[in-house]
Amino acid sequence: MSQPGIPVSGGAASGLQAQNGAAPTSGSPYTNGPVQNPLMSSQVPASQGYNSQRPASHHLPAKTALNPISGQSNYGGFQTVSPLSNYQGPGQTLNRPPMASNTITPSLHGGPFSRMPPPALQNSTATPMPSGSFHPGVNLPPPPLNWQYNSPPAGSQINHSPAGSTQPAGSGNTNLTTNHQYISSGDPSLQNSYIKSGSAPSLVNPPLPPTFQPGAPLGPPPTGGPPPARAPTPQKSSHHAMPQPSFSSAANQEGGTSNTNNGSMMVHNSYDEIEGGGFLATPQFPNKNSKMGRSVGYAYPSLPPGYQNTTLASTTGMPPPSLNYPSGPPTFTQTPLGANHLTASMSGLSLHPEGLRVINLLQERNMLPSTPLQPPVPNLHEDIQKLNCSPELFRCTLTGIPQTQALLNKAKLPLGLLLHPFKDLVQLPVVTSSTIVRCRSCRTYINPFVSFLDQRRWKCNLCYRVNDVPEEFMYNPLTRVYGEPHRRPEVQNATIEFMAPSEYMLRPPQPPVYLFVFDVSHNAIETGYLNLVCQSLLDNLDLLPGNTRTKIGFITFDSTIHFYSLQEGLSQPQMLIVSDIDDVFIPMPENLLVNLNESKELVQDLLKTLPQMFGKTLETQSALGPALQAAFKLMSPTGGRMSVFQTQLPTLGVGALKPREEPNHRSSAKEIHLTPSTDFYKKLALDCSGQQVAVDLFLLSGQYSDLASLGCISRYSAGSVCYYPSYHHQHNPVQVRKLQKELQRYLTRKIGFEAVMRIRCTKGLSIHTFHGNFFVRSTDLLSLPNVNPDAGYAVQMSVEENLTDTQLVSFQSALLYTSSKGERRIRVHTLCLPVVSTLNEIFLGADVQAIAGLLANMAVDRSVTASLSDARDALVNAVVDSLSAYRSSVLSNQHPGLIVPFSLRLFPLFVLALLKQKSFQTGTNARLDERIFAMCQVKNQPLIYLMLTTHPSLYRVDNLSDEGALNVNDRTIPQPPILQLSVEKLSRDGAFLMDAGFVMILWVGKNCGQNFLSQVLGVQNYASIALTMTDLPELNTPESARTIAFISWLREQRPFFPILYVIRDESPMKATFLQYMVEDRTESALSYYEFLLHIQQQVNK
Ligand SMILES: [Zn+2]
Repeated sequence: MSQPGIPVSGGAASGLQAQNGAAPTSGSPYTNGPVQNPLMSSQVPASQGYNSQRPASHHLPAKTALNPISGQSNYGGFQTVSPLSNYQGPGQTLNRPPMASNTITPSLHGGPFSRMPPPALQNSTATPMPSGSFHPGVNLPPPPLNWQYNSPPAGSQINHSPAGSTQPAGSGNTNLTTNHQYISSGDPSLQNSYIKSGSAPSLVNPPLPPTFQPGAPLGPPPTGGPPPARAPTPQKSSHHAMPQPSFSSAANQEGGTSNTNNGSMMVHNSYDEIEGGGFLATPQFPNKNSKMGRSVGYAYPSLPPGYQNTTLASTTGMPPPSLNYPSGPPTFTQTPLGANHLTASMSGLSLHPEGLRVINLLQERNMLPSTPLQPPVPNLHEDIQKLNCSPELFRCTLTGIPQTQALLNKAKLPLGLLLHPFKDLVQLPVVTSSTIVRCRSCRTYINPFVSFLDQRRWKCNLCYRVNDVPEEFMYNPLTRVYGEPHRRPEVQNATIEFMAPSEYMLRPPQPPVYLFVFDVSHNAIETGYLNLVCQSLLDNLDLLPGNTRTKIGFITFDSTIHFYSLQEGLSQPQMLIVSDIDDVFIPMPENLLVNLNESKELVQDLLKTLPQMFGKTLETQSALGPALQAAFKLMSPTGGRMSVFQTQLPTLGVGALKPREEPNHRSSAKEIHLTPSTDFYKKLALDCSGQQVAVDLFLLSGQYSDLASLGCISRYSAGSVCYYPSYHHQHNPVQVRKLQKELQRYLTRKIGFEAVMRIRCTKGLSIHTFHGNFFVRSTDLLSLPNVNPDAGYAVQMSVEENLTDTQLVSFQSALLYTSSKGERRIRVHTLCLPVVSTLNEIFLGADVQAIAGLLANMAVDRSVTASLSDARDALVNAVVDSLSAYRSSVLSNQHPGLIVPFSLRLFPLFVLALLKQKSFQTGTNARLDERIFAMCQVKNQPLIYLMLTTHPSLYRVDNLSDEGALNVNDRTIPQPPILQLSVEKLSRDGAFLMDAGFVMILWVGKNCGQNFLSQVLGVQNYASIALTMTDLPELNTPESARTIAFISWLREQRPFFPILYVIRDESPMKATFLQYMVEDRTESALSYYEFLLHIQQQVNK
């Protein structure tokens, strides 16, 4: 399998290549294939630029079609693509995201790739790549072997620091217009729209709410009114000057939301404007003022009064408070957030007295809890904590945020967030309201952690600006009570979704568009995957998320590219072949992506025919790059999801790759090819991102396919990579079952289109590095052409300004997306954490899983920018540095052994597990593509799955009982204790299940009880357990029911389908099983105890 010099043709005999190279003599490569298929016959004359006949020698190269005028007029561009392209016409580029507006050309002829400056280059100054991105030629100085958590590496993003931006801090608002990347919420047009959409009557003299009771003390003076530095007029007029796009009419045609674009505001030219900027984008506060704004918090009573005076003086444009707030006691009972509602001291942790323990790991080696490890609970007053965001969605590595960067540096722990923002949720409050209440300054969405100064004003918990409560917000639709803004769902739920009004749209919401791109080379057909995928699509066609606007299309490719016309009214699909892969054009683009409802029968026809069409192909070449280019062109007008199935190394045209894996080098941590060999896939991915196209790659290959290069197509377009090594329909039944299950999920799971995500945090904190699959479009706006419920993200942060004036900080992620039903929605999560001032508190609040997860992400970057051995060293040093800091700065007296705070008791174990994880392991086991895939997973998986694949769960399952079992939908799910990962925990008379996330291994001991063998495995004796048993029989016994219930329940918890192997000592999978025994020694890695000794040695140095 892994011999040197893998033939580029994949599994086929190498002789086939020569044969195909001399195509004319070999006749049609499809002699027995598609030629006889009626589907092949096209009614379109060949003079129109493509050839519907099969013989290769008759293929018209695309270029010949481009030169004649007739060809031009037929296929000259997108103007006839589809009704959806209405809003794509000339003069409407303002509707497009910046990349698109800069790059789109009306005609695709001549190849936009050669003409367009690649977006990467355009954006290279304003939008640095995510750090550690897989682009080749990264030219960073060799990093130190530990992490400087405080200094963002080159290429990282700063979101709060004016100094770090291209926008001078004091330059005022007007300059913003010169850099449209940063025009954001600072744009008065947005402010206008904000006020307008609020439909609030005059703020000067609002009507008294019915429940309002006079006689209350005056509210505090308003602060932070409209920023004085604002100069709205020039910008406004510049917007007036912009050509009016057909947005409104298009919106009306779509039957969507009513047109609010009356020409006086809001011609958005980027998503950045729509979602609203962070602090960087709204520098309307001079630095001095923002400091004041931050200090006037009435929820923070300990502040120096002098600030309040200054603030009053600096407040302009606000009516006197008495006008706004006639005297009256507020009925207002919001739980004030502030110092008095933090638990008075760290004794708050007395809820978890264990948390205060220090542990000598050399003495207490078994620290692994027998139930799944729970994230630490932030040390907040319970009234606040009960409103907090679920840790499943939003976690921070430190649940106590250090007051200063100096303090954070001392702790030597990474500060960052781990997010699972689009997770499937059982309960999600959805708000439909014409007013989405956001901070006028930093655009934060109102959330449970803002403070209400009184009924009419709320103070932003991120930038401290005081905002007015819009009139509409005074009414609570849930309680039907007026005057309780703090009881609105927006203020009661840390996770919430808003239906977005039209000002959150750059164009009418796109329809769901699904394009499938299939490798149909000889190698691909050999694997038999096409049968399964087509059948799965047939089965799930009606379950594809969408509505009457859903569009679908298909492209197949080998050495040529094949399109399928599915135009309504055709009696059968038509295949159209383009053989000029150097300059791919799209024949009859309007018929290739079709409305699924209208053309359903043709689609079904095609899916039934496709697997047989190439049955006897001899074509071994793979023109993946040109096929992707064609697919991109086809999808550009709308955006959507491209699902690419590839089974080998691409060999033809742009993006062709060469084998790079050298098995002899696998063992060394150096000289392995983790970086892409070409930037073609990344560039194309950025083009896709600009046109709202995400590419999901399904790689089904038994041979090296250079995933390091191919994976970029998904990484930068916000797609995902799925890998089925050695997929074969007969030889590898477990992969077949896995693909089938995962396709079912993939095709039917929720999907968000044309999405952007922004993460904001309280002023003083700064986000500087992002991890995950996306493109950072401007400063801190993640471009996600698709968002799926199974993707995770991580960010690193630093403390830019001291947080000494505040007790609480908040983090908010806002994900703006188009649902498959065509609704524009915003999903918002807000996390609130306390600020701490001592090292001890930082350590007490450390979230070891989140820390390990963030370190894993950082280590992937380090592996790519430096080397694998650097990354491994840095992981070890992360443990050594933090435990040294703890020892020298927190422990008052010197203990013997390796002392750790309770919160970090699993830190050395998890880091050791990372070192043994496929991404970072040494030894000859890891094939290069498998390692790269593991790295992709680190970057793209939500934290819980990353931890499970890194540190699997081991259970004894031959004695499952109902004691402590869960009851889920009338099923009894046993809950056996989790065991340490060591063979010491095994016993020959038992059976043990290793749950490693993507794979489960059930090891049966030699002396396992007869009861388990017969009642669960259905075998007579140990020897009759098949060596390749991959499923449990469903037997009519309680033991079988319990075991199957447990395994099914584990599987149901995750979006992918773990393969189950049942093994005995002689099984080939035994080695894999033992490899997951993280605590044991292997030929190339230390045991846990040896690792602890090593750490202790380093710490005590
Ligand atoms: Zn704010």
